Amino acid sequence: MIRLDELIHRLQHSIREQQAPAPQEAVGGGVTCRICGDTGIVCSGDVAWICDCQRHNGKLRQQAGIAPELRDYSFEGFRIDYYDGQHRERALAALQAAREFTRDRIQGKSCQGIMFTGDVGAGKTFLAAAVANELLNQGIQAQFLVVPDFLDDLRTALLHNTGDSREPDDVALFRSVRQGEVLILDDLGAHNYTEWTCNKLYSLLNYRLNYQLPVIITTNLKMSELDEYLGERTTSRIVQMCRIYRLTVDKDIRHIKNQMRFRQEE
Ligand SMILES: [Zn+2]
Repeated sequence: MIRLDELIHRLQHSIREQQAPAPQEAVGGGVTCRICGDTGIVCSGDVAWICDCQRHNGKLRQQAGIAPELRDYSFEGFRIDYYDGQHRERALAALQAAREFTRDRIQGKSCQGIMFTGDVGAGKTFLAAAVANELLNQGIQAQFLVVPDFLDDLRTALLHNTGDSREPDDVALFRSVRQGEVLILDDLGAHNYTEWTCNKLYSLLNYRLNYQLPVIITTNLKMSELDEYLGERTTSRIVQMCRIYRLTVDKDIRHIKNQMRFRQEE
């Protein structure tokens, strides 16, 4: 038979492993769950069980749509040493903005969104995913959408509408995304935007602007290019909603990581 304190210790350890980094370390100080003190375990006499906050976070995580490879991204894991000189100053400013945004959301303050622009492989998606992960760790809803995939899903849902249900699939999908607490639009790039997709994106951003619901956007396009692809009214919404941070690198960070991995394996 396993002792109760040993069982608790093991459960706490496994929960902590699932949520790297631990929530209270993620965004400085304070305990989020008063029931379990962020340990994830509630004890009463000889009985111990997993706190409701853990189930809640698990569900949020399932709904968030973050790809498995992005789930471990955190502010602590953002490697500033990959950036040199002026690139580093930009990266530090972007990291700081991402941290402040996350902290403000956790404290329930309304705050402006962020758009990360810049080179391919400069860490934009990393920071956006880190924001989502830190928010989810604190039980805050964050929806992570890869823009081209989302537009495909929306189009598919539209095509599959049978007219049977009261609310068509594409409308339901669009509504759920539109209202999310924090929305991340990853890779708002150079795709084939039709008039329909442009209108959808405009409507999404316009709604969120009106209801003061923040977005985090990543794009490797310049503002003038965004204008060209999405139209001026959409980019003007983005400018109203977001502070813009540019990330730059001499060399794609994914290449640097791969090189380091090779070196370690040699
Ligand atoms: Zn709890």
